[in-house]
Amino acid sequence: MTTASTLAAPVLILLAPPGAGKGTQARMLEETFGFVQLSTGDLLRAAVAAGTDAGKQAKAVMEAGDLVSDEIVIAILRDRLNDPDTRKGVILDGFPRTTVQAQALDTLLRETGQKVNAAISLDVDDAAMVTRISGRFTCGTCGEGYHDSFKAPQTEGVCDKCGGTDFKRRADDNAETVTQRLEAYHAQTAPLITYYDDKGALSRIDAMGDIQDIAAGLGAIVKSATA
Ligand code: ADP
Ligand code: ZN
Repeated sequence: MTTASTLAAPVLILLAPPGAGKGTQARMLEETFGFVQLSTGDLLRAAVAAGTDAGKQAKAVMEAGDLVSDEIVIAILRDRLNDPDTRKGVILDGFPRTTVQAQALDTLLRETGQKVNAAISLDVDDAAMVTRISGRFTCGTCGEGYHDSFKAPQTEGVCDKCGGTDFKRRADDNAETVTQRLEAYHAQTAPLITYYDDKGALSRIDAMGDIQDIAAGLGAIVKSATA
């Protein structure tokens, strides 16, 4: 039987500045819990690559390290949440990034009897983010994330996960743009830490350590938030 409570899929939010490892951790949570990682950055990059109207508007904004308009991002997210796979639960990676987006998410979830189970802040030092971002790249086939200094593929040029040999670096992953992205985070996104704290939905985790340790800590938070 389907009841309202079984329909209410878990909704988790990762809040963190660029380079903190949101994407890496979201992918690990996806594997552990079977939730769907939903990255507005990935959705926007797909829209840019596809040359849609939204993509055309977003391209220059993203390359400058600024935030894409709430209107575009909310529309993209709403569409994606309509896909049936999101009923397994979602990990929002890079959304919401403004108070307007957080309020829109609350409204959307209310319509389907859902709520945000937990917003988890990955706490990091800004200074380290520039180094982390400047060296990062992903597998073009499966999306696995790598880093020149911290997480190189075991065999150079070959993806550990899928054996792919085609790697990508993002156009906005350079030192100049990173500074602007960090500023956008502190001005527009960091206030959401208080927003979710006021709702009693906030957890924080120190995200400067080892990837596996952070994953374990995050897994424990997610487990108790979705129990
Ligand atoms: P990062 O967290 O490393 O900056 P993302 O892939 O999450 O990477 O985002 C890349 C860019 O996409 C951002 O700098 C911004 O321009 C745009 N973007 C992604 N998500 C949002 C959002 N929720 N609101 C506005 N802009 C967004
Ligand atoms: Zn791969």
